[in-house]
Amino acid sequence: MSKLSGITPSGHVHLGNHLGAVRRWALDGGADDLYFVADLHGMTTPHNPARLRSLASEQLAVLIAAGIDPERVFVQSDLARELGALIWVLECTCNYGEAARMIQFKEKSAARSASVEGGGGGMDGKSKGQAGVRLSLLTYPALMAADILLQGAGEVPVGEDQRQHVELTRTLAKRFNSTYGEVFTVPEAVLPPAGARVKDLTDPTRKMSKSTRDAAGVVFVLDEPDQVRRKIRRAVTDGGSVPVHAPDTRPGMANLLEILAACRGGSPSDLAEEFSSYGAVKDAVADAVIEELQPLRERALTLLDDVAELERVRKAGAERARERGSHRLDAALRMIGAN
Ligand code: ATP
Ligand code: MG
Repeated sequence: MSKLSGITPSGHVHLGNHLGAVRRWALDGGADDLYFVADLHGMTTPHNPARLRSLASEQLAVLIAAGIDPERVFVQSDLARELGALIWVLECTCNYGEAARMIQFKEKSAARSASVEGGGGGMDGKSKGQAGVRLSLLTYPALMAADILLQGAGEVPVGEDQRQHVELTRTLAKRFNSTYGEVFTVPEAVLPPAGARVKDLTDPTRKMSKSTRDAAGVVFVLDEPDQVRRKIRRAVTDGGSVPVHAPDTRPGMANLLEILAACRGGSPSDLAEEFSSYGAVKDAVADAVIEELQPLRERALTLLDDVAELERVRKAGAERARERGSHRLDAALRMIGAN
């Protein structure tokens, strides 16, 4: 079964993305698996075009630097024409109510409405409430379905928040196949292997995220080693002094021990016993994280400096992904009555 996974350039790639996803993609990706930078998904809420473009290149470089075979990586917008055609086919297969009841749409559109009422800016500035929500936020799951169905992916590793979208993708694939003819592989949502969720260093009750405004608690994979050390030294910990792994009562220390375990191997509670002070744990975590990220960071920076090479890899990846999907897109257009 081929797998498909994506990462949205909503911010710089961080330690959580690396330990929880990218590192694993590099290690256990099969020959038919595909990984992509989901830049089109980064346009469903107000965005800055130049920043999105630069984050997309950076993420492509990071995925390759992390050891993912360049042949299995592409940037989503390089397939904008194919995906644009397929999303239309899928929107004509999907009912309005099915899209409107997606939990993520309801949550994100409610959040946007609230912020626009409070005086949004830019393109959406004059609109009020729901009117300030981009239509693409509603149709986002159809684009996700297009990503998956174009490539004929059999398995889609997703967290809880994306499960409903894969369910909808299954519904659309089955509906299209039974109404117009067999074109699409019906994908399965699979749970990625359980790995610890890396928490924000300044607020260990929430996960480390790309889109968090305050970067003080987020270690980016391209941060300079000194910066990494500084962020880890300043990590918020609890009142204790002797390190123990107790996620419920000592979430800050637990997070540090879990990061250490993910970098060095071993269990967080065993590792805790090696240290007699919080400061010693922080030093060890900083060393381990810097060592873990160093090769990735060096390769990514080299690649980002070599614009021609990055462009070559990007074009080749796009070409392969396009070729892989073109017969499905052609068949879908033909069967739905387009050409
Ligand atoms: P955003 O804030 O824009 O949602 P994100 O940091 O949550 O960004 P995603 O693009 O949503 O990143 O997720 C990319 C991959 O990284 C997913 O496989 C997700 O499970 C994984 N991931 C994200 N954050 C963490 C984290 N803190 N710890 C472990 N894995 C994570
Ligand atoms: Mg996320």
